[in-house]
Amino acid sequence: MFENLLKGKTAVVTGSNSGIGLGIAREFARAGADVVLNSYSDDDADHKLAEEIAAEFGITARYIQADMSKGDQCRALIEKAGSCDILVNNAGIQHIAPIPDFPQDKWDAIIAINMSSAFHTTAAALPKMRAAGWGRIVNIASAHGLTASPFKSAYVTAKHGVVGLTKVTALETAQEPITANAICPGYVLTPLVEAQIPDTMKEYDMSREDVIKNVMLERQPSKEFATVEQMGGTAVFLCSDAAAQITGTTISVDGGWTAL
Ligand code: NAD
Repeated sequence: MFENLLKGKTAVVTGSNSGIGLGIAREFARAGADVVLNSYSDDDADHKLAEEIAAEFGITARYIQADMSKGDQCRALIEKAGSCDILVNNAGIQHIAPIPDFPQDKWDAIIAINMSSAFHTTAAALPKMRAAGWGRIVNIASAHGLTASPFKSAYVTAKHGVVGLTKVTALETAQEPITANAICPGYVLTPLVEAQIPDTMKEYDMSREDVIKNVMLERQPSKEFATVEQMGGTAVFLCSDAAAQITGTTISVDGGWTAL
């Protein structure tokens, strides 16, 4: 549907050696964009992933190691990428604990990786987008960028912060051919989520289907996971001409969660 839409553009996707980031990078590649994959690791498997995407879609794909918890490495990622027409801020981690018990290092890491990294990459990418005369920033927030849950103080704070940064970025670029938006996913079946299913089945003595419907998707009215391909398709749409006047807003892909 979006074939060749993004030919000649370079998309940098942070935290893209797994899950939603990888799904988004693949959909950009399918739409003809060259892609830069990233994570904090520097394994053969990371570079092989880029080679496989390049071969599958006939585009250029590179893997660049950079730790999104460090501001200077966030900025270095964008510099090493060379071009950055499309920036997707996706890297993220989670930790769950009540506020008095929330470890300070986990708070600092979540704020740095899930929120501050988007500030640093945006600061480095905007001059490149301005020089190129076109740019798209897609921040991967969450239903938790719009609503809250107990025990996720750092994550909810960071994701609300990402939505705020998205609005400011949009206002600072409003009269330029650059847009900034946030995608707010509900529950997406990434390897991270899949790995939690067997333990939860044991814990609740429930079938896989019951764990998914009644535990994991309790707040997702569709009772279905969103998919990484749907996140990728939404990101590609935000880079299309049809979305040129969509800026500074959030798009929920959450099976109705935020309608409740
Ligand atoms: P995931 O664990 O599969 O992916 C997270 C990615 O971030 C991985 O590639 C990981 O290597 C990378 N990463 C982690 N720390 C990093 C660091 N310091 N530097 C660079 N990269 C780092 O999880 P996911 O579910 O695909 O999550 C991706 C994004 O989507 C996150 O921002 C998450 O908050 C958001 N999200 C996920 C869901 C869901 O249900 N899966 C829902 C809403 C929002």
